[in-house]
Amino acid sequence: LAECQLHATGTYVLGVDVGGTKLATVLATRQGEIVHKVRLPTDAEKGSEFGVVRVIAMIQQNLSETGTALEDVIGIGVACGSPMDAERGIILGPPNLQSWNPVPIKERLEAEFGLYTQLENDANAGALAEWLFGAGSGKRNVVYMTMGTGIGGGLILDGRLYRGTNGNAGEVGHMRVVPQGGPLCGCGKHGCLEAFCSGPSIARRTQEALVGEPDSLMVTLAGSMEAVTAAHLFAAARQGDALAQRVVDETAHYMGVGLANIIQALNPEVIILGTIATAQGDFFLDRVRRVVRTETWPQMSAVVEILPSPLGDQVGDYAAFSIILQNLPTSLSQRERVRG
Ligand SMILES: [Zn+2]
Repeated sequence: LAECQLHATGTYVLGVDVGGTKLATVLATRQGEIVHKVRLPTDAEKGSEFGVVRVIAMIQQNLSETGTALEDVIGIGVACGSPMDAERGIILGPPNLQSWNPVPIKERLEAEFGLYTQLENDANAGALAEWLFGAGSGKRNVVYMTMGTGIGGGLILDGRLYRGTNGNAGEVGHMRVVPQGGPLCGCGKHGCLEAFCSGPSIARRTQEALVGEPDSLMVTLAGSMEAVTAAHLFAAARQGDALAQRVVDETAHYMGVGLANIIQALNPEVIILGTIATAQGDFFLDRVRRVVRTETWPQMSAVVEILPSPLGDQVGDYAAFSIILQNLPTSLSQRERVRG
């Protein structure tokens, strides 16, 4: 198999998002304007070969519906929330897509299209998207964190994606935020930030706080104790519910301790928080910022912004093709045009 090179002068870039329930292919210009998107279910139960063939067909559909020639495409970025061999472009069984193990997606797409293909985990790709097109635009040191079903992270340090020794850098959700013990995390450790501040963890902590409080506003909003989610917690806190405010403050405390550890180690310019932080904005983030100010050196807290993700739900659309655009030396100046 001939080694594929970037078509660095091309006009377009392709992104492929491999998720447990959805597959998406996005064609964008090199300036990051999305031209055409194709989405289909992953149909995980049909196995990985079915999925790879479907991805290839979706890319072909994307190219043919827009009349785009292969020579005009710079390369293909593939984002997947999975253990992987990023160097060789092999997907190694995502938790929600275990039959995709192993899938040499780089080799398959390069053989099919003759286009340089690069695989990256979805949190790293999200960090690239926020760096190129979101709140990290024009900055050199950017931390991106998701705050949804899990807490993932990606690091842009000194103007490039930092992967660590074997590709595991940025797993900020699994730092300890209590001195000992703490709830069991999905990763097998105890006391991780994710075990306190992911969406399901916030819901669990809220439900624990509600024991013996059946008349709470949160239970009324949710319909039952078991149905209470992070969204009900924040809604009740905004209406002045004291118990809800206490749980929100505790959540902000754990998040603030986690962010302070990151800031103390990396001295970033911006930490961009997605999902729950995007939905709740300053109501939540002002509490986090207060904790960070007391837990970090002033010369570091003075230069760091803690911001909700401006890309929000769209981050996934930008993430995969940003994997390719990070390689273009001109992307720094071009990205200014996109987000103004
Ligand atoms: Zn963990």
